[in-house]
Amino acid sequence: MGPPGAGKGTQAKFIAEHFGIPAISTGDIFRANVSEGTPLGIEAKRFMDAGEYVPDEVTNLMVRNRIDEPDAEPGFLLDGYPRTLAQVEELDGMIRHTGHALDAVVVLTVDQEEVVGRLLQRAQTEGRADDTAEVIRRRQEIYGEETAPLIDVYRDRGLLIEVDGLGEVAEVTQRIFDALDAVPQS
Ligand code: AMP
Repeated sequence: MGPPGAGKGTQAKFIAEHFGIPAISTGDIFRANVSEGTPLGIEAKRFMDAGEYVPDEVTNLMVRNRIDEPDAEPGFLLDGYPRTLAQVEELDGMIRHTGHALDAVVVLTVDQEEVVGRLLQRAQTEGRADDTAEVIRRRQEIYGEETAPLIDVYRDRGLLIEVDGLGEVAEVTQRIFDALDAVPQS
C-alpha cells in the first residue's frame, strides 16, 4: 500500500522476484486491458482517467480470477489491491477459499508533495493518462478517503509493516526485504 507515486509498482517487482512469486498489480492489469480495448478495459478507462476507483465488483472479480491462476498457487504479492474496505473483506473471502493467508501488508510512507513531482515526471517518461496535476490530486484525495483507513485495519491485525518510501530505490527495497525477511511465511 501507499499513496499514488509512493513506488508500489517498482518495489512490487523486486519483492516478487525475491520471494519467487508473481506480483499482481491491479493497475497493470487494468492498463493492459485498456490498451487491448477489452470490455473490461473500456469499462475501467473512464474511472482511471478521472482518478476514481474502478467499481469494487469489477476489480474483485478480476483479482479473484487472477489469483486462481496456477502461478499464484505458491503465493503472490498484491500491488494496489485491496484499496477499499469492501475489497479487504472480499480478499479475506478469496484467500479463505484458496487456502492462502496474508503474511504481511507493506505500506510505503512518502511526502505527498515530493510524490506529485515524481508523478509529473512519470507522466513525461511513461505518458500515463492519469498523471496530470488535476488527476493526481484526485487520486491522492481518494487514497486518503478510501484506502488510508485500511492501514488501521491491518495494523489491528498485526500485519502492518510501515517502510519509509523516500530515498534511493535500492535503499527502499533493502528496507522492505529486512522487514519482510523477519515475517514468518504461512
Ligand atoms: P495504480 O497503477 O495502482 O496507480 O492504479 C491505476 C488506477 O487503476 C487507479 O487510479 C484506479 O483507477 C484503478 N485501480 C487500480 N487498482 C484498483 C483497485 N484495487 N480498486 C479500484 N481501482 C483500482
